[in-house]
Amino acid sequence: MNQATQHIDVSRNTFDEVMVPVFAPAPFIPVKALGSRVWDSEGREYIDLSGGIAVTAVGHSHAELLQVLHEQGDALWHVSNGFTNQPVLRLAKKLTAATFADKVFFANSGAEANEAALKLARRVGHDRAGAEKHEIISFEQAFHGRTLFTVSVGGQPKYTEGFGPLPGGITHLPYNDIEAARAAISARTCAVIVEPVQGEGGVIPARREFLQALRELCDQHGAVLIFDEVQTGVGRSGALYAYMEYGVTPDILTTAKALGNGFPIGAMLTTDAFAQHFPVGAHGSTYGGNPLGAAIAEKVLDIINLPSVLEGVKRKHARIVAGLARINETYRVFGEVRGLGLLIGAEMSEAFKGRAKEIVTLGAKHGVMLLIAGPSVVRFAPSLLIPEADLDTGLARLEAAVAEFVETPAAAAK
Ligand SMILES: *Cc1c(COP(=O)(O)O)cnc(C)c1O
Repeated sequence: MNQATQHIDVSRNTFDEVMVPVFAPAPFIPVKALGSRVWDSEGREYIDLSGGIAVTAVGHSHAELLQVLHEQGDALWHVSNGFTNQPVLRLAKKLTAATFADKVFFANSGAEANEAALKLARRVGHDRAGAEKHEIISFEQAFHGRTLFTVSVGGQPKYTEGFGPLPGGITHLPYNDIEAARAAISARTCAVIVEPVQGEGGVIPARREFLQALRELCDQHGAVLIFDEVQTGVGRSGALYAYMEYGVTPDILTTAKALGNGFPIGAMLTTDAFAQHFPVGAHGSTYGGNPLGAAIAEKVLDIINLPSVLEGVKRKHARIVAGLARINETYRVFGEVRGLGLLIGAEMSEAFKGRAKEIVTLGAKHGVMLLIAGPSVVRFAPSLLIPEADLDTGLARLEAAVAEFVETPAAAAK
C-alpha cells in the first residue's frame, strides 16, 4: 500500500463528497472476494449472485487469471495499436475459431463495441447503397450502452433525456413483434440491432421465430444484423454465445462484460466481407486490444468454453429456478421467472410490482448480492463456476430476505 492510501480514511460517505452522483451504491464497501464470496470493510460475508452485472463469469480472484495478470504484467502491458501484440492475436484467433466471425475489432467496453458495430453498419450501408441507407432499427427497452449514439439506439427514453440533439435515423420497435419488424424494415435500413435476451430491459428472451424473422428481413433488404451479446455472451446463456443457442447467426456480434471478467475489454466480431468496410483509419481505440486485457480475455475463454462448464450453466439455471419456485410456494412474491442459462429474471408478482429494489437491499442485509432489471425484476447473474453449495446458501439467504420483505409494508419502503 502506498502512503496516500494509508493516510486517507474513506467510507461510504466519501462517495457523496467526491463522486459525480450518477450511481447510488450500496451502503457497504466490498474489499475482498474469492470465487462467489465477497467480504465488506466490516468483515461481513456475501454470496455473490450479481456477478458484477454479468461480468465476473469465472468468479473473483480466479487463480489462473491472477497468474496471467502477473505474467503479462511483467512482460508487456501496453504498446498502442501502432504495434500489434501476441496476446491480442491469440485472442482474435480463438474468438474467430469459436464463432461465425472472421475478424475482430477490440475496444474497452460494451458501449464501445456497439459504437463500432453501429458505425460499421452505417459505413456498409453508405458504401453499398449511398447515404439514404442509414436507418438503424432497434427495440423498446433495449440497452446498448451510455455513449450518445448507443443511448440513442437503446430503447429507454430516460437515458437520453436532456442530451439532445441526438443522432438521427433511429427507429424503435416493440421487441418480439414480428409484424412491426416486417412493416418497418426497408431498403433504407442499414442495421437491426437486438439483444438475444434483453438484460437491463427486464431479462426478456427473444422468441426464436422473432430472431429468425429479423435474419430473413435483413437478408431481404440488405441490412446488417447486429446481436448485442454484451450481457448474454461468453457462456452466460449456456452456449458460448446465445446466437448458437437460438440457431440464428448475426453479421456482427458485440461482446464485453464477462470477456475480461472485470478487466475492461470489449470486442466487435464480424465477417471478412463487412470488415473490409473499415479500412485503415476508419475507426480506432488507444487501449483496445492491449496485451494485458487480451491475455486475460484469452484465459477467460479457455476456462469457459468447455462442454463441462456450459453444461454446468444449464444445471445451475435449473437449480436457481427450482429454488425460486420453492421460495415462492411460501411467499408468493414472484410472478414469471425467465431467462437463459445464468441470466435469470424473477418478475415481482402483481401485489409487489415496483418493489424489486427492496429485495436487493434486504438481500444484502442477509448476505446475498443481487441485481434488479428495471423496477419489478430481481436479476441473477452469478459466476458460471459458482459451486452448487454457494448457490444453495445464496438462495437460503434470499429466502430470509423475502421473509422479511413480506412483513414490510410498501409504505415503509423508500
Ligand atoms: C452492459 C451492456 C452494455 C454496455 O456495456 P458497458 O461495458 O457498460 O459499456 C451494452 N449492451 C448490453 C446488452 C449490456 O448489457
